[in-house]
Amino acid sequence: IVVVDKIYKTFPPGHGRVAHRALDDVSLTIAPGEVLVIIGPSGSGKSTLLRTLNALETVDEGGITVNGISLTDGRADLNKMRAEVGMVFQNFNLFQHKTALDNVVMPQTVVRRRPREEALARARALLEQVGIADRASHYPSQLSGGQQQRVAIARALAMDPKLMLFDEATSALDPEMVGGILDLMRRLAGAGMTMAVVTHEMGFAREVADRVIFMDQGRIVEEGVPDALFSAPQQPRTRAFLDQIL
Ligand code: ATP
Ligand code: MG
Repeated sequence: IVVVDKIYKTFPPGHGRVAHRALDDVSLTIAPGEVLVIIGPSGSGKSTLLRTLNALETVDEGGITVNGISLTDGRADLNKMRAEVGMVFQNFNLFQHKTALDNVVMPQTVVRRRPREEALARARALLEQVGIADRASHYPSQLSGGQQQRVAIARALAMDPKLMLFDEATSALDPEMVGGILDLMRRLAGAGMTMAVVTHEMGFAREVADRVIFMDQGRIVEEGVPDALFSAPQQPRTRAFLDQIL
C-alpha cells in the first residue's frame, strides 16, 4: 500500500547548518499487512522518511504513493490521505486541554464526521483495548508517559487507518513503560495492521518485523528479513552500527 520511488530531500541551510541531504535516492514498498522496521544512527533520515509517508514533509524529487493516492503529483487530497494514516510520535502530541477520551473522540467527529455517540462508543472501546479505560477523564498532564502513549495510539486507531507510522514511540518512556507499548504494537502487528516503525528496540524489531531497513546518511544501506540483517549483515556500515548497539 506504500510505494516510494527514488525520493530526495534536502533541507535548506540555516541556523549554522549547511544544506543537508536528509533523503538520498530512497525507494521502498510496504505490502498490506507488512511490518517494516527502519533502523539507523541519529540523523540518518528515519523520521524524515516516515514524515514523507504522511505528507508532513515534502520531497524534492521522486514519487510517493500511499493507498493508491500519489502524494507527489501535487493533486493529492492530503486530508483524505492523512485520515487513512495514523502516526504515533515520541512525544505523544496529545491535545493538552482535552481529556483522554476527548483526544480519541475529536479526530473521529472532525475528520471522519462520525456522530458524537458513535465516536464516544468507539473511543471507549479503544481506551479499553489499550488498557486505560479507567483514565478516560484524565487530562494528559495527569497521565504517565506510557498512559499518554496509549491514548495516542488509541487516537490514531480511532480513524481506522490503513497504515500506522511509529516514530520512536517508546524512546521518551521510562524503562518500565516500554514493554507495555511494545506489547500493544506487537498485538497490532499480529492483527494484520500495516506498519512502518522507527525504533531502537532491536529485540522488538527482530521479533515483529517482516523486513528491516538500515539507513545511514539519508540512504538505505541494507534491507532484509530480520534474521538475515541482524545475524549476517552484508554491509560493513550495518555491521558497525549493530556492533555498536547490540
Ligand atoms: P534520530 O534518530 O536522531 O531521530 P533521524 O534518523 O530521525 O534521527 P532525521 O530527523 O530524519 O534523522 O534527520 C535527518 C537529517 O535531516 C538530519 O541531519 C537533520 O539535522 C536534518 N533535518 C531534519 N529535519 C530538519 C529540518 N526541519 N530542518 C533542517 N534540517 C532538518
Ligand atoms: Mg528521528
